[in-house]
Amino acid sequence: MPLLVVLLFMLSDPALANVDVGGTAFGSAAVTSSIRFLEDAPGQLRLQDILTIPDNDWKRNNGQHFSQGYSRSAWWLKVPLSNSAPATFTRYLEIAYPNLDQVQVFVVAGEHTTTFNLGDKLPFHQRPIKSNHFVIPLRFPPDSRQDVYLRIRSDSAVQVPLTLWEKQHYYDWTRVESLLQGFYFGVMAVMTLYNLFVFLAVRERNFILYVCFVSSLPLFIAGLKGFSFEYFWPNHPQLNDHAIVVPLCLALFFGAVFTESFLKVRQLGQWAVTLFRIQQISILVMLLVSLVVSYPSVIRLLIPMAILSCCLGLVFGLLMWNRGGLAARYYTVGWCAFLSGGLVLGLNKLGLVPTNVFTENTLQVGSGVEVILLSFALAASINEERRLRSEAQSEALRGERETRMAREQALQIQRQATEELEFKVQERTTELEHLNRQLSELSDTDQLTGLKNRRYLDRVLLEELTRCRRYGRGLSVILLDIDHFKQFNDQYGHMVGDDCLKAVASVLAESVREGVDWVARYGGEEFCILLPETSLTCAQAVAERLRQGVYNMPFKVRDTQVTVSISLGVTEVHPDQEPTPEQLIAQADSALYQAKQNGRNCTVLADNRTSAAKPTTGCHHGRRLG
Ligand code: GH3
Ligand code: MG
Ligand code: MG
Repeated sequence: MPLLVVLLFMLSDPALANVDVGGTAFGSAAVTSSIRFLEDAPGQLRLQDILTIPDNDWKRNNGQHFSQGYSRSAWWLKVPLSNSAPATFTRYLEIAYPNLDQVQVFVVAGEHTTTFNLGDKLPFHQRPIKSNHFVIPLRFPPDSRQDVYLRIRSDSAVQVPLTLWEKQHYYDWTRVESLLQGFYFGVMAVMTLYNLFVFLAVRERNFILYVCFVSSLPLFIAGLKGFSFEYFWPNHPQLNDHAIVVPLCLALFFGAVFTESFLKVRQLGQWAVTLFRIQQISILVMLLVSLVVSYPSVIRLLIPMAILSCCLGLVFGLLMWNRGGLAARYYTVGWCAFLSGGLVLGLNKLGLVPTNVFTENTLQVGSGVEVILLSFALAASINEERRLRSEAQSEALRGERETRMAREQALQIQRQATEELEFKVQERTTELEHLNRQLSELSDTDQLTGLKNRRYLDRVLLEELTRCRRYGRGLSVILLDIDHFKQFNDQYGHMVGDDCLKAVASVLAESVREGVDWVARYGGEEFCILLPETSLTCAQAVAERLRQGVYNMPFKVRDTQVTVSISLGVTEVHPDQEPTPEQLIAQADSALYQAKQNGRNCTVLADNRTSAAKPTTGCHHGRRLG
């Protein structure tokens, strides 16, 4: 029901021309064209003087709420009221502009005059009805008439939006209005707190600037609507002069700083930054000036400055919109809403736009819309930055991945090259080893007979002697020489001699254990055989077998069988002896020499202990290997 009343009030806003406040159907009515007024520039007229002024000297107010803009004069308003009904009614006369400095209300009923002293220069508790607006209760007896005279003097804009209310209607309306105002301040408080928490979480400078801007806006509105006085300093009316200017300066200042930072106007060049700096400094100067200079002088400068600031915000919003980005769009639309509200309010205070329920509240609607859109803008800017950051990150990641892949490729190539190189080195090494083996084989091999040579045998002899010592095993050595070979050469020729050497070598190689015994050409027509783990007796048997093998070998020269004989000296190593290779060979050589002495084609065993060689015959070598 109260909401319906309000809606009806907002839509119809009936104006009283000829004011009859009687009747039970009376709800509320704006008092406009029934107002008569006159200006008292020096402000010296008293009620007695006013009462003597004839009706014709009063000016008629137009159909709008009484408004004179900024004026230092005292203004007298006369509102003739009557109750033609046969009952008593109480009506509330509301002056819905809380910033008026002095409001004197004289209710003249015949001889009787009631005076009310109001205005925001007086403590709040002196008001007859506790409201942020000035409200005077008027009692109308049946068939009565009373003239209400108002004397208004104010440094603020002289606006006197008068409304007559039926009492209950008034309270219904104030309840709804309080709800709407509460909604506005609630939205602002939520936006402030929410963004403050966001700032505490993300530490983004724009959020705290936004919080400062958004929190100073409702303070400004509260000053304008008289709430600051009613709730914050009801007993200190001297603060009322600052209640509007200071929050307005703060809102303008933080609005400018926020705009500069949020829109990144630096991108447009140094000139833009300078412009904003000038704006911000002049606002701060204005703030300081307002503390010492009177309200009307300050507000006259501040209103154009506020409109200019809003325009500046709008222009830069559009410039940045042009550069793309969702955030700048939200900002611009929000700023437009605020600008519209500010513009309407500014023009209204200057007396250029009438006062009504819309002009009185556009700033709240505009600032509310702006604050919400700016919050969207902040979120959009965060999103935009996050998107840019994530793009940069994925770019960096891609770069990193590419670098890693390139590095891996390079490593792969290097690894392949190394592998190939290693393979080649291995190949060459194997080849070299093979060649080395071939070379060493060649250098260890006797070219004519294919047997190992003396160099090789000396090395093996040394190893075998070491093994004998370590394991206490026996070793026998046979040294043999072809008999009368010089003569053989002489008789058959050197080439045949060579063939004979090969044939003897072949018989020797075949007559010993392959892989165990060692046969070598020791020099000229001399051969040496090492028999590991073989006793002297067995070695003697081997020697005999060799001797017979050579003697019986089928060797033909020009189809004639030729007999070749060899002489052999055999020696052994005793476990209790540690002979040098030279000593051992010398023992065998000595036995061989003895065999030559004994007539050749025989075997002689060396007697180590006596160093004397003794010819032997008939020992049997147990094994015949190879
Ligand atoms: P003895 O029974 O005392 O050993 O008499 P000999 O003639 O065998 O002894 P000598 O040491 O005087 O002769 C060795 C001969 O062997 C001399 C040399 O011409 C011959 N000779 C040495 N090496 C080779 C060779 O590689 N090929 C040929 N055809 N003859 C060689
Ligand atoms: Mg010889
Ligand atoms: Mg010989």
